[in-house]
Amino acid sequence: MPAVAGMQPQRFGIFASCLVAGVAIASALSTALNPVTPIAPVEALPVAAAAPAVVAPEPVSVSPFESAEIVIRRNDTLDAIFRQMQLSLNDLAELRQLPDVRKSLDRLRPGDMIMLTHLDGELKSLTRRLSDTATLTVTRAEDGFAADIIENPLEIEDTSMSGTIDSSLFGSVNAAGGSDNLAISLADVFKYDIDFVNEVQPGDSFAVAYQQQWQDGAFVRDGEILAAEFVNKGRVFRAVRYVMPDGSAEYFTPDGHSVRKAFLRFPVAFGRVSSGFNLARRHPILNRVRAHKGIDFAAPVGTPIYAAGSGRVIHRGVKGGYGNAVILAHSGSVTTLYGHMSRYAKGLSVGDKVRQGEVIGYVGSTGLASGPHLHYEYRVGGVHRNPATVPLPKAESIPAELRADFEATTAALLAQLDTISTSAQTRVAQVVP
Ligand SMILES: [Zn+2]
Repeated sequence: MPAVAGMQPQRFGIFASCLVAGVAIASALSTALNPVTPIAPVEALPVAAAAPAVVAPEPVSVSPFESAEIVIRRNDTLDAIFRQMQLSLNDLAELRQLPDVRKSLDRLRPGDMIMLTHLDGELKSLTRRLSDTATLTVTRAEDGFAADIIENPLEIEDTSMSGTIDSSLFGSVNAAGGSDNLAISLADVFKYDIDFVNEVQPGDSFAVAYQQQWQDGAFVRDGEILAAEFVNKGRVFRAVRYVMPDGSAEYFTPDGHSVRKAFLRFPVAFGRVSSGFNLARRHPILNRVRAHKGIDFAAPVGTPIYAAGSGRVIHRGVKGGYGNAVILAHSGSVTTLYGHMSRYAKGLSVGDKVRQGEVIGYVGSTGLASGPHLHYEYRVGGVHRNPATVPLPKAESIPAELRADFEATTAALLAQLDTISTSAQTRVAQVVP
């Protein structure tokens, strides 16, 4: 690409230098005029083809000053980039001596961008964005390089939106002005109560008070949800964010119950219920009535399976028709079983403690399975219960000593929900199950 082509005169000698020097000037200009055009360093070099063996005169007074924007690719190193651009490796060594610079320079991630300027291969400046809010700049001073990390904090703006589900959660949130990330966050807040894959339907509605992140007048992304309402099949769910004294944030119902449950109802992301709990089901493979004491979630092979609750692994291995199966023991004599896995989470073994939401394996079709799905069972004291309807133990409520502060800090947000909620006007009374 142009800036790299500009490096080529020294490699191709004077034969091609006139032609290529022209490219170099053009590239320096276009880089200056259009600084956002990324220029990749390791592109194939079309220069040879563009440089017929014409004897050309030496270029006169071409400024060798160059600026380049380099997009990091997999396996790129600064050494390789400096070598390729024929920049001084002594400069690079000197950069790395600067306090704190080495760490922020050497960890390159694909897609990162580095901007640099040089004069005849001698580095003049280097700029690298370290994060959303920090940029490293190194400039050549009289007595060596000087490094600076410039902070540019995000501005947080509170906003709100509401809408009605038309066909999909994503489409409806987008239509109301929210991003896909906001839709994901919204589903995350209510995931313990609502099955967003199987239960959300047209006519459901939502209202969200949330934060947006801005920087220098430009929108960066949607941030935290502060309060939200979701009406699913006429049932109203509400949650409000509260920051605990230790700085962690959690969502609570307006009356102070954590929206979390001790168990996930749906231990697989984006699985479709393909067979419910049914004590008189005809088995699709055995073709005889055999109770289906769990729920099947159809999902592609390899879809992660989560521990429904925190607990301990008491089985990991092949278990008859279940195929590859994991069984977890939880408090309150609850056990959960996950069958037909294609494989287990790396390193998972019997006796391990797992946290709720931790990946324990992946969807497959081992054992007696007609297609890839998770077979999930929930047992209390050894008795199978329907995972879709069994009352789940609640996570903790707001501690008594925080109750007054909780009510004081969330009142305004909940009042805001009332004003933006499309359901609030028609609702007579609110019942949160
Ligand atoms: Zn099943």
